[in-house]
Amino acid sequence: MSSIISFLERSEAKGIRSIEAVVGESPILSEQMLELARWISAYYCCPIETVMRSLLPQVIRRAEVGWKKQLFVRPTRKIDNEEIGKLRKRAPRQAELLEAMSRLETPMRAADLLRQTSLDNQTLRALVRRGLAELREEAVIRDPHADEQFIATSNLVMNNEQSLALREVTQALDSPENARPILLHGVTGSGKTEIYLQAIRAALDRGRTAIVLVPEISLTPQTVERFKGRFAEAQDAVAVLHSHLSEGERHDEWHKIHSGRARIVIGARSAVFAPLKNLGLIVVDEEHETTYKQEEAPRYHARDVAVVRAKIEKCVVVLGSATPSLESYHNATTGKYRLATLTQRIDEKQMPLMRIVDLRQERRKEKAAAILSEKLRAAIADRLEKREQTILFLNRRGFSTSLLCSNCGEARNCPNCSVALTFHRHPAKAFGAGRLSCHLCGHTAAVPKKCPACGKDALIYAGFGTEKVESTVAHIFPTAIVRRMDADSMTRKEAYRETLRSFRTGKIDILVGTQMIAKGLHFPNVTLVGIINADLALHLPDFRAGERTFQLLTQVAGRAGRGETSGEVFVQTYTPFSPSIQFARHHDFAGYFQQELEFRERCDFPPFKHAILITVRSPWATQRPRRSRNCKVNSGFTF
Ligand code: ADP
Ligand code: ZN
Repeated sequence: MSSIISFLERSEAKGIRSIEAVVGESPILSEQMLELARWISAYYCCPIETVMRSLLPQVIRRAEVGWKKQLFVRPTRKIDNEEIGKLRKRAPRQAELLEAMSRLETPMRAADLLRQTSLDNQTLRALVRRGLAELREEAVIRDPHADEQFIATSNLVMNNEQSLALREVTQALDSPENARPILLHGVTGSGKTEIYLQAIRAALDRGRTAIVLVPEISLTPQTVERFKGRFAEAQDAVAVLHSHLSEGERHDEWHKIHSGRARIVIGARSAVFAPLKNLGLIVVDEEHETTYKQEEAPRYHARDVAVVRAKIEKCVVVLGSATPSLESYHNATTGKYRLATLTQRIDEKQMPLMRIVDLRQERRKEKAAAILSEKLRAAIADRLEKREQTILFLNRRGFSTSLLCSNCGEARNCPNCSVALTFHRHPAKAFGAGRLSCHLCGHTAAVPKKCPACGKDALIYAGFGTEKVESTVAHIFPTAIVRRMDADSMTRKEAYRETLRSFRTGKIDILVGTQMIAKGLHFPNVTLVGIINADLALHLPDFRAGERTFQLLTQVAGRAGRGETSGEVFVQTYTPFSPSIQFARHHDFAGYFQQELEFRERCDFPPFKHAILITVRSPWATQRPRRSRNCKVNSGFTF
């Protein structure tokens, strides 16, 4: 199936065929969505066909995936007891089935009826032949949340700052023609989500619909529950779009939105294209998140697309974050966006105390580079004693980050990507000793006994990831219950939910993880957060590395002290005086913004200049790299 987006008066192209038939009665995309597609195509330099592929998910474009059909049964007419009695003499089982049907609510699924009555298909068919029952195929909705109960919640009474922020949104909803995007800058735990919920309610009250974008990683059951619970009045009101849906589920959610049954869509990046009509509000939560950027064609930034879609559809857009991107905050200070600020955590809870641990000094004290500094170790011991919980954060998976030869210096690199292979111990249990794996392309290799380059038995493991942190912690605190949460340990669909549940109910003392645990989770009993190595993000070759580090530290710190007891954060680093770390330590967003903005201006970086990445590929680049003597150990972009 193809979509026609415009007509040419004439064309020079040869072999053009005529349109044979038009599928469907009305266009599947609105005029506004086409306008959006044209903008994406022009702005991101991408063919419009590619853009259309993002706008219309594959399951909608392809004919094979359709509705799931099931057989439903019902009596053909009203049947009284006398008739059933007569039938019972000749065909007792058919009579039993008929009686059940008149008792139960019909039409019902044939399969359910047969299960409930313990009767078979033959009996049902006979009843149909007799003209007493009829079967019909009907579409059923595949809803991944169908068997979950959502407890209905109602609006909370807002504090002053929240009310002011909400008023910004409702005023914009009342005159959307000249509304500017609203940047909601609120510290973690300041009640931004409550504002989104009430803003959506305000949009619905005005007969309009809403989209909420969240980073894929924070699209947790907890988040979905908050939205489904608040809008529990209709089972269908909230559609959820994310990458773990089956094709069938995606098909059904899309049609639920397109047909107008769902009025709120919550989803990751691509949900910005949700085909809602009468759109009133788009919320982009954690607007600074890098996952809003799509890395393959069509390359787009969902936050920016949201702002443009809002302009085209004349709706309100709210960008929320505790650590807004420099670009958005700049737009707010120059008046392009409106700014709403929440400075207080709910119930005036204190921001956690941030302690910086200088790893250079620690190193002098202890010969080996300790994963846990003395101070952090003492703090964990203290929490274990008080039966409070700890989160340890390291944004690097695996056990060791490289396998080096101490004789010739050669590292085991990926043949495809030339980055160092990470050694994994756990997920490879099936292989016995563990395996090396590439975090970019997924290539895996066995661990060699001797260095393949020089033949010496001198291989050493260097650098460490979450697996090593987990085993070290378990070793130091043998009685503590330690769990790890990263892309390796969470491969099963249910594992994530299970681990979070055990953590929330206090069955886990220490949770070790990657950025999977950095975002949007509330655990009242967590009073300690340890950042194992703050320098990892700081030294990435990206002009935004400093900004990312500031954001990451602030976000991770936001996990501590969400309950009654105030929290404490230990940041281990070799560069304790870097501005990203110092400003994060003092919870000083404005200060960080000022100094980073000056840096960007001096270097001609965004938001002062536009940057374009041009990638040139050649067949040679994909050939195996030749071994090089002074190959540097790559720090690896491991997420
Ligand atoms: P954020 O999204 O800014 O991190 P949340 O909206 O998740 O903050 O709010 C943090 C906690 O405070 C949540 O448990 C939420 O239910 C609660 N909360 C938010 N607003 C209020 C309010 N006005 N009164 C009481 N509790 C609130
Ligand atoms: Zn690779």
